[in-house]
This record gives sequence, C-alpha cells and structure tokens, in this order.
Amino acid sequence: MKTTISQQTSKMQMLLNIQDYMTKVIRGETSLSPANVDLFVEDCKKAVISQLGGREREYRIRMSGLGKPLCQQVCDKHGIEETMQYNSIMRFLYGDITEAVMMLVMREAGIDIVDYQREVELDLDGHHITGTLDVIIRDGAGVEKVWDIKSASDWAFKNKFTGFGGYEAMKTDDPFGYIMQGFLYSEAVGMPFGGWIVVNKSSGEVAVVETYDWTGEDKDKYLADAKKRVKFLSDPDVAMFRPYTDEFETYKRKGELIRTGNKVLPKECGLCGYKTHCWPRAVVHTRVNSKAKSPQMVWYSRLKTREI
Ligand code: SF4
Repeated sequence: MKTTISQQTSKMQMLLNIQDYMTKVIRGETSLSPANVDLFVEDCKKAVISQLGGREREYRIRMSGLGKPLCQQVCDKHGIEETMQYNSIMRFLYGDITEAVMMLVMREAGIDIVDYQREVELDLDGHHITGTLDVIIRDGAGVEKVWDIKSASDWAFKNKFTGFGGYEAMKTDDPFGYIMQGFLYSEAVGMPFGGWIVVNKSSGEVAVVETYDWTGEDKDKYLADAKKRVKFLSDPDVAMFRPYTDEFETYKRKGELIRTGNKVLPKECGLCGYKTHCWPRAVVHTRVNSKAKSPQMVWYSRLKTREI
C-alpha cells in the first residue's frame, strides 16, 4: 500500500514536534503550563484508581479486548481467574503513568489534541459494546484521527512497533488485538484510526506508528471479524476451548534437529493469564536448549529433560 507525502508528513511532523519539545526541555528553553500539570495529575489519579482501586470482575465485551484470542475471552466470560504475578500490577501502573507522561509531553509540544479518554459505544449486529479511546488529534491538514498511546518494553518497541514491526507486521501477529481496538474506536467516532504513539519504557524513545489503510479495506475486514466475535461471545452457551497445541522442543546437533523430549506451550498460551487453567500441568523452567548465560524462562507442558 502506498503512503502519500502528506500522510507521511503529518506523522513525521507529530514525531518531530515531540522530539523538538523534549530537546528544548533539555536545553532549558521551555516553561510548563500549570493547566497541563493539573491534567497530568488528574490522569495519574485515574491510573492509580484504575490499577490499585480494585479490579472489575463483571464480564463485558470491551473494544480493547475484542481482538484477543477468543479462547481467552471465553475464559473471562466463564469467570476463570487470571493468574498474575504480584509485579503485574506494578507493570500496569508504570504503563498507565508512562501514557499520562506522554499526554503531558504532547500537550506541551503543541500537538493539537481535540479530545482524550472519550467513552465510546458501538452497536455491532444488535450487540452493544463500549470502550474508551485514548486521544483524538487534529493533524497539520486539519484531519482529526483517533490514536492509541502504548507504553512498550524495549523488545516490543524495537520488534513490534518499529524495525521490522509496524502496522503490516502487526496484521500477521496481533495477540492483544491492537488493530481491531483502533478500528472499533474509529468506527465509533466516525474518524480514521491514525495508529499508535509508542513510548519505549526503557529508553524513553517515542515512535509514531501509522496504520496504512487508505482504502478502508482493512477496517471493513476487522469490523466484519469484530461482528462475528461479538455474536460468538454473546452466545449464552459458549463453551471454553483450547485452540492451540503444544510443540516439541528441539535443538541442533551437527546440523541435525534433535528433540529434547520436552514440549513447550505455544506462544499465545505462554503469554496468557489462563494457562494454569488450560494447561494445569504446565511448569516454568529455564529454556533447556539455550546456550545463553541467562537463559529465558519458558513454559513447558511436558518437562522430561532438564539439561542437555
Ligand atoms: S492458555 Fe492458551 S488456550 Fe488457554 S485461554 Fe490462554 S491462549 Fe487460549
């Protein structure tokens, strides 16, 4: 899909404005608007209440989660408790606070913010779904678009959003349903989905990652899928299922692929909070076939060999 010069310019302009502002802060050439500080405090307060104020138990179809694997959403609907380490809360809170900082930076950088944290709703085939979009920005050409702010790990920033990642790559691997989420917000407010403004939580770098859907073809496809998903999830008799299979762990010896005798959970399940429900015998262990000094931790559905 071709990108027009004006579309590239608006994306580049937003990034340049942000980078320029941050450079001026380092040089001591800025002052801080008290009104923007108040908005930042308000955003942080909302983040703290949302993350530490008790988690919502009631199941609802949300735009933010509809693109996730359906098996996960069915577990949620059935009230299965998600297993989370205590430190998850710290990560979620850091994420929300980082996003609040990004909003402050954008306000101070003079980005034309039309609205933010807007509650939106949509009827999909007779089913009502809701969500909260992050921000609507008016670009240099006067076009208002919906943007999502993401705080990303160093790995996700480099591999999912920039580098070989980005919109096209995400279309083939989007376990958190970010693209569907964006198109649902965009449909709810009748504006294009611009993409993601991403902050690297580790380095502080910022990227503006645009969606290249100038014909609207992708949006139609994602909305059609969203309708099917809502219909499926609204069935009162929807049953839990496990669509993924575990895989043999292998390593190479003299060019030959050898099995360790172990089986690892598929990537989707390894990342999922319901794994102890779907894979009750799964155990976490350092990667058996790794030569790294600090081997990665991996979820095994079968762990017969602990060392090779
Ligand atoms: S553990 Fe795997 S199969 Fe189970 S809900 Fe999660 S992703 Fe789906």
